[in-house]
Amino acid sequence: MDIDELCRHPEYRNYICCSHGLAYAGIKLEAYTRNGLKSIHRTAYSKLAGKQPCTQRCSEVYPRQISSWCETCRVWRKYLCDASNLQNIYFEKMMSWNWPTSYESITPYFLPQSWANQDFQDISTSCHIWDNCKNIFMIRQHVLHNLRECRNTFIAHNPRLRVTDLEKAKVFDALKDLFKDADVMLHIDAQDCLSELDRIEKGDMLSNSLKSIFEALSKHSDNIVHLQNIADRLMESQNDLHSAVEIENERHVQVIDTNDEIKDEQYQIQASVRGLEEKQNEMERNLRRYHERVINMIMMKEENIGNKELVLNFFMSHRFLIIFIAIIAIVLSICFNYYGYKD
Ligand SMILES: [Zn+2]
Repeated sequence: MDIDELCRHPEYRNYICCSHGLAYAGIKLEAYTRNGLKSIHRTAYSKLAGKQPCTQRCSEVYPRQISSWCETCRVWRKYLCDASNLQNIYFEKMMSWNWPTSYESITPYFLPQSWANQDFQDISTSCHIWDNCKNIFMIRQHVLHNLRECRNTFIAHNPRLRVTDLEKAKVFDALKDLFKDADVMLHIDAQDCLSELDRIEKGDMLSNSLKSIFEALSKHSDNIVHLQNIADRLMESQNDLHSAVEIENERHVQVIDTNDEIKDEQYQIQASVRGLEEKQNEMERNLRRYHERVINMIMMKEENIGNKELVLNFFMSHRFLIIFIAIIAIVLSICFNYYGYKD
């Protein structure tokens, strides 16, 4: 479906006008619908007053065992079933404990079981309520029938989203009949509603609405372009970041390699230092041995010097001189004796 082409099509504009007209009727008749429900509730309350409030949430706890319900819920159920034109009423989703205090809580009595919408501004929901409340809403049956027929055929079940001029006329005739209905007229300013409906039918409001829609779409489109630019920039940033991460990873790998090399060199240096330490230890041992040797030699030398001094002292002592003189005297006496005999 080409949306631009569809928006320019007159039958699409008819569709929008019809949809707008139905929505307008639903909003305008909300008070009428609520007042009818309030009337049912008021009458029920006046007849069933004085009962104890429900304390066991009957419809929720015993949805199919009515005999287990409290007296209040049972009498209210009986009254409201009698007030509805529907034959099959299901209580699973109802809140029976609220019936005496809230007119809105009795609404499901007048809607089909599958009907999830409880919006009092929805024309279709309102049609069900108008049709199913006994003796409350007095809208003529053919008016109600036409309204539903038009709503279902031309709006709700119309996937083409196009309405011919004739179909559009049928829809607005049905809406005008609704606003002109005697029962409805008691609750609205019929003349004002019909004038507004006329403007909607002519599309006066639609022009402004469509203008607003197209302005919004244009703004939306600008926003999308802006967002796209941001997304592009983000993508570029992401790519840059990705590249930076890759470069950083490469650097990291290089740093790891360098670190390994440094570790190897460190290991070699440590090995060299260990070798040097061993050599130093050996040299220290050698030096120690050399020192010991030198000390020994010095000690030995000192010992020799000591011995020489001892001998010298001996020779230089008085005792040595006496002995020496004695020996000389002995030798001289021997010589004298020898040579003396000879002579
Ligand atoms: Zn109860």
